[in-house]
Amino acid sequence: PSRAAARTALAALEAIETTIRAHAEELGRIDAVAGDGDHGIGMRRGSEAAHVAARQALERGAGAGTLLHHAADAWADRAGGTSGALWGVILRALGTALGDTERPDAHAVSVGVDAAADGVMRLGKAETGDKTMVDALVPFADALSEAVGQGAPLTAAWDTAATAADAAAKATAELLPRLGRARPHAEKSLGTPDAGAVSLALIVRAVHGALAA
Ligand code: ADP
Ligand code: MG
Ligand code: MG
Repeated sequence: PSRAAARTALAALEAIETTIRAHAEELGRIDAVAGDGDHGIGMRRGSEAAHVAARQALERGAGAGTLLHHAADAWADRAGGTSGALWGVILRALGTALGDTERPDAHAVSVGVDAAADGVMRLGKAETGDKTMVDALVPFADALSEAVGQGAPLTAAWDTAATAADAAAKATAELLPRLGRARPHAEKSLGTPDAGAVSLALIVRAVHGALAA
């Protein structure tokens, strides 16, 4: 297996845990506006468990794909909640697309992110505009594939896409939730962004740091 790719995947999961820890209270507050307030706690549990599982997988000699599959299972098992299951789907789709053998190029990563977005929409049945993490994930995937298609190297393309995800997450403040726990309190959430979209934007920004290191 490619050790370099596995080490990068581990560094990305470490960066995710760090940014989620730093923003957990804020994510809980955002989720509490129209949801049940547990998004920070759930994301912290999931990202910590994923990081631990990834480190153990690397120690056993796993490649990036296998490492991401272990991280996905750990995240989904430990996080609970809707977002935990969906982050499991994201990491599993990435792991399947990247595989273990070669250092993935920008195109392979972009294909993996597209598969992750498809997987989230298939499991959660949300579409863009429903005020969920999909509203940050789809713009992220689209911006990444556009930048990669124009020939940008992975780190630069990811930077552009992370900026798009941040803008898209902020723009969810103007949306009314149509799915999930926030739906019964739809009008209360106007003016507040979706918690899962905000955490997704934080995560892809942190992963850029790991890719650029
Ligand atoms: P729970 O809603 O079970 O308490 P979390 O608070 O961890 O789980 O996550 C809430 C976030 O999950 C929402 O802000 C939204 O982004 C995302 N979410 C909820 N339902 C869906 C869905 N059907 N599809 C995609 N994302 C969803
Ligand atoms: Mg919640
Ligand atoms: Mg909950």
